[in-house]
Amino acid sequence: MSTDDNTLNNIWQKALKLIKSNIPAASFSAWVKPAKLASIDSNDAVLQVRNEFNRNLIVQNYFQHIQTALQQIQDNNSLRLTVEINADLPAEAYMPVFSSISGSTTASPDNTSQQNPVIQHTNKKYTSYLNPKFTFETFVVGTHNQFCHAAALSISQKPNPSPYNPFFIYGGVGLGKTHLMHAVGNYILKQDSSLKVVYITTEKFLNDLIDSMRKGKMDEFRDRYRKADVLLVDDIQFIEGKESTQQEFFHTFNALRDKGSQIIMTSDRPPSAMKKLEPRLCSRFEGGLIADIQPPTFETRLAIIERKAEELKISISSEVARRIAESFPENIRSLEGALVKLSAYTNLSTNKLEMGMVEKLLNLKQAEENRMSKIVNSVAYHLELDKSDITGPNRQKKLIHARQLCVEIARTFNTSWSEIGTGLGGRGNSSLISLHRNIKDSLKNNDFPYVDVLDKLKEQFQN
Ligand code: ADP
Ligand code: MG
Repeated sequence: MSTDDNTLNNIWQKALKLIKSNIPAASFSAWVKPAKLASIDSNDAVLQVRNEFNRNLIVQNYFQHIQTALQQIQDNNSLRLTVEINADLPAEAYMPVFSSISGSTTASPDNTSQQNPVIQHTNKKYTSYLNPKFTFETFVVGTHNQFCHAAALSISQKPNPSPYNPFFIYGGVGLGKTHLMHAVGNYILKQDSSLKVVYITTEKFLNDLIDSMRKGKMDEFRDRYRKADVLLVDDIQFIEGKESTQQEFFHTFNALRDKGSQIIMTSDRPPSAMKKLEPRLCSRFEGGLIADIQPPTFETRLAIIERKAEELKISISSEVARRIAESFPENIRSLEGALVKLSAYTNLSTNKLEMGMVEKLLNLKQAEENRMSKIVNSVAYHLELDKSDITGPNRQKKLIHARQLCVEIARTFNTSWSEIGTGLGGRGNSSLISLHRNIKDSLKNNDFPYVDVLDKLKEQFQN
C-alpha cells in the first residue's frame, strides 16, 4: 500500500467512526464500511463502491452523512462528495458475516456483523430454531423490501418493547419473509443471548398443540410459547379455518403482549384478507405494524444474483446474470434455486458457463410457458370450461371470472405480466391489470363466486 493509500484509508476510517452512530449497524457494515475512499483534495472526495445497487443505496440514504463526516475531518465545508463504481473492489468485504477475519481494526461495527454465525441453542433449555444463515448481512435491500427491512431492523435494535407490536409481514412466495424474520431473531440473540427468541411455523404450532392436548401436556405447551421474549410465527395464514388453534393462539398472543414480548408474524396475505380468521384475532394482528414485501425489481434481482453468485463461488457474465434476472421475474427463492443448480454444474465440470448452456440447464425457454399454461388448464378444469374459451375473446361472465382467477393465481406466484398475457391468449397489460383489480375488489367485497377454487389452486401451485 502506498503512502497515499494509507492516508486515504486513515481518513476513511476516521469518517467511518463519525458515520457509524448515525446509520443502522447492519446497513453500516453491509454498505458503507466496505466502500473505499479513492481520492480526496481540497474540493472533491471520491468514494468507490462495488456496484450500481450499492451506489444508489448510498446516494439515496447516506450521502449526506458521509459528505458531512469528510467535511468535518478535512475541516472544509465546501468539500463535495462523488460516489462511483469500482467493480474491482473485493467482494468479500460486502459479506461481513463471511469475512470476520479480514475486518479492519478501527471503526468495526458492533457485534451484529462479526464473528461466527449466531449461537442457535443458547444456554437455556429451549431451542430457537433459527437458521444462522438468515441474517441482515445476507439480506439484500431493495425498493421492494426497504420498508419491511427498516422496520425489522428497528425492532431488532430495540425489541422489548418495540413500538411495532405485533409486526405483521406479508407478501408472495419466496420473497424473503422467512429470511427477514430469522434475521430479526438472530440479531436480537446476538445482542442479548439471555433473551428467549422462539421461531415457529404455524404448522408446527398446530401440530404441537394437537400433540400436547392428546398427551395432556398443555402446561408444557403454554410454557414453551408464552414465556418467549420474542415469538416469530411463520406463515400464519395456515391458521385460517382452524378454530381451536386460533383460540389457543389468541391466548398465547395476549399473554405475550401483556408481558411486553415482541411478536412477529408472516403471511402470504394481510390479516384483512384472511377470511376464515376470527375477528378478534384479525384485530390483534392489525394492532401493530403491517408491512408488505413486493416482488423485487430487475435491478434488485441483479444485485441478489451477484451476491448469491459470490456466496456460491460461481462466476457468471453480466449478460448471463441479466438473462437469469429476466427469467425469474419476481421470486427470490427460484432465483436462488437457479444459481444453486448452476453452481452444481460448475463444480462438476470445468466448462465455462455459456449463455446457451445456462438456458439449457435452467430450462429457461419452456419453463416460462409451462407454468402459465398449467394454471389456465387447472382453472378450465375446475370451472368446467374450455381452455380456448378462457384464452379467447368471449366476454361471458364466467369466462371473465376464469381469467381473473388465472391472473390472481399467477400473480401470487410472481409470474410476470408478459408471461400472463401470453398465457391468456396474448392479452395486453391494461386488460390484465383490470382483471387483477376487479378480482381484488370482488374478493374484498366477498362477492367473488369461486373463492374455493382460488384457495385450492393457490395451495396446489404452492407445492
Ligand atoms: P418467503 O418466506 O417469503 O417465502 P424466504 O424468506 O424463504 O421467502 O426466501 C426464499 C429464499 O430467498 C431464501 O433462501 C432467502 O435467503 C432468499 N432471499 C429472499 N429475499 C432475499 C434478499 N432480499 N436477499 C437475499 N436473499 C433473499
Ligand atoms: Mg416463508
